[in-house]
Amino acid sequence: MQVTSKPIKKIVIVGGGTAGWLAAATLGNIFKQCSVGVELVESGEVGIIGVGEATIPPLLDTIRSLGIDEVDFIKATQASFKWGIKFEDWHTKGQSYFHPFGSIGATIDGHDFFQCWLKSQAEGDTTPLMTHSPESQPSKSNKFFLPFEAMNTPLKNAKYALHLDAVLVGDYLKKFCLNIGVTHTIAHVKRALIDESGNISHIELKDNRRIAGDFFIDCSGFKGLLIEQALDVGYDNWSHYLPCNRAVAVQTEKVGETLPYTISKAQKAGWTWRIPLQHRTGNGYVFCDKYISDKEAIETLLANVEGKVLTEPRVIPFTTGLRRKTWYKNCLALGLAQGFLEPLESTAIHLVSKTLALFVRMFPDQQSNLVLQHEFNRRVRQDYEEIRDLLVLHYCTTNRNDSPFWRWCKNMEIPATLNHKLIFYRSSGCLIPGVEELFQPTSWYAVLTGMQVMPHRYNSSIDALDYNQLQSSMRLGRQSIWQCVTKQPSHDDFLQRYCPAPKPA
Ligand SMILES: Cc1cc2nc3c(=O)[nH]c(=O)nc-3n(C[C@H](O)[C@H](O)[C@H](O)COP(=O)(O)OP(=O)(O)OC[C@H]3O[C@@H](n4cnc5c(N)ncnc54)[C@H](O)[C@@H]3O)c2cc1C
Repeated sequence: MQVTSKPIKKIVIVGGGTAGWLAAATLGNIFKQCSVGVELVESGEVGIIGVGEATIPPLLDTIRSLGIDEVDFIKATQASFKWGIKFEDWHTKGQSYFHPFGSIGATIDGHDFFQCWLKSQAEGDTTPLMTHSPESQPSKSNKFFLPFEAMNTPLKNAKYALHLDAVLVGDYLKKFCLNIGVTHTIAHVKRALIDESGNISHIELKDNRRIAGDFFIDCSGFKGLLIEQALDVGYDNWSHYLPCNRAVAVQTEKVGETLPYTISKAQKAGWTWRIPLQHRTGNGYVFCDKYISDKEAIETLLANVEGKVLTEPRVIPFTTGLRRKTWYKNCLALGLAQGFLEPLESTAIHLVSKTLALFVRMFPDQQSNLVLQHEFNRRVRQDYEEIRDLLVLHYCTTNRNDSPFWRWCKNMEIPATLNHKLIFYRSSGCLIPGVEELFQPTSWYAVLTGMQVMPHRYNSSIDALDYNQLQSSMRLGRQSIWQCVTKQPSHDDFLQRYCPAPKPA
């Protein structure tokens, strides 16, 4: 083995949205004590997308791994807490279900809880699965607590994430980056210059200045200034699985209690989101323009919000899919430049962090390493496909018949990977966790049962358990969750006590 002969000395990041600043924070933090320079270039002319406001639990690990104080981050980003997502009207109008972040129920005599629940359902018990969730129960009564403060109770394994103000997150990360020595340049990038080996050698700015680098990270948003416009890697369009192609977003004044969950409500041609923050609420409608116009989508959204509207409705077009290669030559694409999956499970910012973590694990030198790139691209694709399949599950299992959009969903073609999963689940009653998958079987069970997809059987090893004992364990489990939940503070009381954000000016 030899010492790296051509180490990377300069990383240039194009784009100052959440993806760009997360990349700068992660790489700047790793290289802060050595001579690898990190420079972030962002246009003063093109704004950020600014709508990534619902997250999933791994974001908190990212924040902690940077050495950022969680309370400080929450206050500065006007964040609130999130136990999961409530899905309304997805299966049929008037019906709702909850997708919690953590596990559901505890094993009984070593048997998987979901199988115990299936057995009890087969015996005629109609108790909902979510009565065993340490996140669903506090969500119902707007409670919040830190799981480590509920040690020795069934709430100790609850998992939470944050709702946050995307613009404030960018500001926070920017300050963090400047403190660790990241160079920040405000300039509009005109194009990338390619050398004879096909690598990017420089980016050229509007004023004709050039910035050289050994490695470039494209965080320029949907257009993919480097990865697509310069390197032309191509894009796999997944609209035939997920046809929504536009969103309209609007902010409103906060009304009432701060809910500790995101609401996703199915609409005539897509779904609306509601994301409660400490200082305001974020709202949006993700829709397919084949079935409704922008005008109708805006009207629907405005009819569904609570509180005074604070911003003009902003329409954002998008194409669901993934770049054919997200690491190509000396360029890595992140965030919207990498790919797009609608925010139904709040996964985009997580995909930025996860891609960055993988990149750090496979960190290259200046010599092109196709083995690394190939494995990297394979894993990123696997992550995207896993999430895509979970998103498709929300649509294809609908029972709604009330609009052309939902009738299309009922009969849609689904990915072969999802089809295989559904066949396996229906015939066995279980799912086997995959390697490094984000969504564990409990997440799938939450959506499957929420969408009323029940398997044909449960795992018959459960029959070895005495059914009365099984029932009494399940009853005690739910009672103890409920008793512990009633002792917890309301979400708003918790926010006030633990991490009150400053009142906006
Ligand atoms: C409708 C919608 C809702 C979403 N909701 C969620 C959610 O709830 N949760 C979640 O995790 N994610 C969500 N996302 C995704 C999330 O918003 C993005 O993943 C995240 O904000 C990262 O965006 P970005 O940094 O890649 O791009 P952007 O925010 O678009 O930033 C692009 C940057 O590139 C710069 N730039 C562009 N062109 C040039 C140029 N020529 N020269 C120099 N700089 C340039 C811009 O100035 C800007 O700084 C949502 C996305 C959409 C569209």
